[in-house]
Amino acid sequence: MDRLRTLGIVAHVDAGKTTLTERILFDAGLQQGLGEVEEGTSATDWMQQEQQRGISITAAVTRVPWRGHLLQLIDTPGHVDFAAEVERCMRVLDGVVVVLDGRRGVESQTEAVWRQAERWSVPALAFVNKLDRTGADFAGAVTAIAARLRCTPVPVVLPLYDDAGRFCGLGDVLGGALHWFPGAQSAAAVVRSTGELHAARERALEACAEIDEVVMADFVAGRPVTAAALQAALRRGCCARRLLPVLCGSALRNQGVDLLLDAVVALLPKPADRVRPDDPAPDPAAPFCGMVFKVQHLAGEVLAYLRVFRGTLRSGDVVQNARAAVRLQVPALCFLHVLDRVPTARASAGEIAVILGELGLATGDTLHDPAHACLVTPVRFPLPVVTATFEPRVSADAAALFRGLAALAIDDPTLVVEHDTDSALPSVSGLGELHLEITADRLREATGLQFELVRHRVAMFETVSAPASASAEVHAEIGGREHTALVEVEVLPAPGQDAVVEDATAPNSPPALVAAALAELRGRTRIGLRSANPVRDLRIRLRALQLLPQPAPGGGESLVQEAARVAAMRAVGSGRPRLLEPMVAIEVRCPQESLSAVLADLNARGASIRQVAAGDLGALIHGRSALARMLGYATRLRSITRGHGMALLVPDGHQLVAREV
Ligand code: GDP
Repeated sequence: MDRLRTLGIVAHVDAGKTTLTERILFDAGLQQGLGEVEEGTSATDWMQQEQQRGISITAAVTRVPWRGHLLQLIDTPGHVDFAAEVERCMRVLDGVVVVLDGRRGVESQTEAVWRQAERWSVPALAFVNKLDRTGADFAGAVTAIAARLRCTPVPVVLPLYDDAGRFCGLGDVLGGALHWFPGAQSAAAVVRSTGELHAARERALEACAEIDEVVMADFVAGRPVTAAALQAALRRGCCARRLLPVLCGSALRNQGVDLLLDAVVALLPKPADRVRPDDPAPDPAAPFCGMVFKVQHLAGEVLAYLRVFRGTLRSGDVVQNARAAVRLQVPALCFLHVLDRVPTARASAGEIAVILGELGLATGDTLHDPAHACLVTPVRFPLPVVTATFEPRVSADAAALFRGLAALAIDDPTLVVEHDTDSALPSVSGLGELHLEITADRLREATGLQFELVRHRVAMFETVSAPASASAEVHAEIGGREHTALVEVEVLPAPGQDAVVEDATAPNSPPALVAAALAELRGRTRIGLRSANPVRDLRIRLRALQLLPQPAPGGGESLVQEAARVAAMRAVGSGRPRLLEPMVAIEVRCPQESLSAVLADLNARGASIRQVAAGDLGALIHGRSALARMLGYATRLRSITRGHGMALLVPDGHQLVAREV
């Protein structure tokens, strides 16, 4: 288990994540030729839609042997509309490699995935890619990492340059070795590079001394710090997320990939280093406990991806699903190697395996040894924000359409499929327009049905802008006797948070009634209190609860729930209720000649423009807008720029809707 590393590769679109994954598989001897992304032969981008769109959508897991270690590599998706995929991967990862485009440094998606890694406290390495391209700037990328990711970057691999300034090798800061690419180097270049490597080692030493007592003691005493001690300190700093080791190279030319893999083994945590407070310790001999982090229906088969947290799972074992309180027998287990499934008799703590078979498993399910209960913190997914109605070309297809969508929603927990209240057609909510379009593509492919996406709408949320309390008294006859439920609820603004429902009742309040009232309030946060919009940025506290006379024969719960609902509605009413709408950060690239047309269009959408920069790649615009005003933007941008524009919308919080809306 100490030789196991579970990592994901995350990046802004186009930074080279797919290319890097390919090179890793190649270097580990798992792939014959180097697959090219452009040709659509890349092994991890195996779903057809991914090949067509050139982006990774579904995370694939693969086992990669490297110098006596085993890396479990999870290919996470690059687009924000698949944030849920990234999120559920974070739950089972022990480390991430953040890939940066050496010319662009930190981009919006780099920040977004970094935040996700931060939320799950996942240690990271950075890989500054594309150093073979003119305009690449390693030092600039390191500065941007410090400024925008707010962390301490420590370069551990340096790019080397020849006398003409061309990228011609890599320097290993800790080991002190210079690796030149084929071609002779001048004596001057060697001297210069040696000096740079020495300076980088001094900086790494200082960064480690800041956070590590062992290195600090040597440093202060003027004792030389060995490479092994420095590496150990760096590893501790990396595992504690206090330092971000930075590597570099060119994935396309397979330069620096081996140094990256060595760093993964040397610096990223093994399973035992990564026990979250609420997770069981990864002892392979303890009773089994694991979590399903992904379920996939594929060509008539069901694959449930599972991380074993504790113990060992064997095929044929009977396990308990903690959510459904049912037992099931594991029919078959396998590991994934690139595209191959390799059957296995068992999977041990720290390993990721796939359970094959229709077992009714869902993402987030905990499975455990029936004799030893265990529950790990599940993954939380963002709420869907864009809804579209799926309109079949032939109305008789509506039912089949609905069934197909419901099947897709099993694999994708961020997809919500309902019947539209007006038309009774399937109404589908997801995380963005692209998310819905890809869902549509998958559905067409799976069912052959013909349909269109119509009436896109963006979700609103309800909140309050001031704290308030209210109570409600509700009467009803239960079992032939008049009963009264009295409930008091307080609401508090909680900007930037989902809805939180808390129990603040006196300790002697009847537990069953309190639980019923809390469940009612939680349910209401999803469907709305005063409007038909879900609630967020709001804390709801159940302050007091009484049912008189007590006990009431069956029926007391629903009376208390009714009172809780009315009290919460009143409290929100006196807390100056407001509507919130989802905002997006916008990043648009376009040719210089279409810049003014693109800006005019963004202005017409009410977007605020933060920055317009010019570069050899054209213009780059940064701004922010209401998501609702950006619907259909990709299509519009294509027509304004004759297909040369590229836009990226990243969720960026919520904003109060102007009063007059
Ligand atoms: P992803 O979207 O992050 O998966 O990025 P890809 O791996 O698909 O790469 C995007 C583009 O950048 C492709 O055209 C790659 O060939 C190219 N690319 C990736 N890595 C490098 C590199 O190290 N150097 C150069 N010059 N191009 C690269």
